[in-house]
Amino acid sequence: MTGEPRPSRAEAEAAVRTLLRWAGDDPDREGLVGTPDRVVRAYEEFFAGYQEDPADILRRTFEETDGYDEMVLLKDIRLESHCEHHMVPIIGVAHIAYLPDHRVVGISKLARIVEVFAKRLQIQEKMTAQIANTINEVLEPKGVAVVIEAAHQCMTTRGVKKPGVNMVTSRMLGAFRDDPTTRKEFLHMIGPR
Ligand SMILES: [Zn+2]
Repeated sequence: MTGEPRPSRAEAEAAVRTLLRWAGDDPDREGLVGTPDRVVRAYEEFFAGYQEDPADILRRTFEETDGYDEMVLLKDIRLESHCEHHMVPIIGVAHIAYLPDHRVVGISKLARIVEVFAKRLQIQEKMTAQIANTINEVLEPKGVAVVIEAAHQCMTTRGVKKPGVNMVTSRMLGAFRDDPTTRKEFLHMIGPR
């Protein structure tokens, strides 16, 4: 992503050791010896989304519709991301709808798109727009709607400490933006926020 070469695994583990010492602990005590290795492995999972091109996932798998032109809605897709300001979890759900024009895609692929964008450092507004824009560009539907509701641990466990607060973001394109009936139908289907 940057011009600099990716650091080695050993460099990443050394960085974790530094943070452990910064926190006030001893990275060489028994309980922490394996921690840098485990943290780096966890990071491989948390940030696996950098290795994949979400547009590619849709491009490889869409099918022509054969005339299906009703709304397709995927509700309550579990979402686990990390905020780019504090690198702590953002946990929530995404709802995605689109109104096909000539292409449809398997629902598992929509969930994969959420996952690829979520497994990067994010802010919720940007992630919401990225998911909607990617579906819009590849499937060329009549409209796309994405709503994300999530709790940010940078807000619930530190700083202002406001547990129980969910942030809701939405991105509406095409018919979902322009046609109040379509938008209403979508909001009705995802239920009260
Ligand atoms: Zn944050």
